[in-house]
Amino acid sequence: MSDLRDLYQELIVDHNRRPRNFGPLEDADRRAEGHNPLCGDRVTVYVKLDGERIADVRFEGAGCAISTASASLMTLAIKGKTVAEAEALFADFHGLVTGHDEQPDALERLGKLAVLAGVREFPSRVKCATLAWHTLNNGLHGEQAPVTTE
Ligand code: ZN
Repeated sequence: MSDLRDLYQELIVDHNRRPRNFGPLEDADRRAEGHNPLCGDRVTVYVKLDGERIADVRFEGAGCAISTASASLMTLAIKGKTVAEAEALFADFHGLVTGHDEQPDALERLGKLAVLAGVREFPSRVKCATLAWHTLNNGLHGEQAPVTTE
């Protein structure tokens, strides 16, 4: 178990240092901002849609290692998926980090996102891990009010 924890820790450190899909997306169809006042994390998520498919997704912002790594892993997980698939993955991810409503086979679908499972032991960090996802959700549904996880 401790080897697995080390691996998870390494992945989080790596994605925090070198976040993937980081920076603005010039021709984004959707853009949403999120803020986690408990920790100070801020994120902006950009999405380019091709019909129902997420053709591209990028993010920018500043926050703790968990929020940055989670946003980075999220972009890798949802690029190329349909909006409905991304929403289903968010439900799986939410179950993973909160320990509530866990779906069968969720770990298989989550892949590398499973590295964030450890935050469930730290309720205040759950908001860090889910900020990018809540923000994405807001963007996909075209809501204008900034997300706050408070
Ligand atoms: Zn945070």
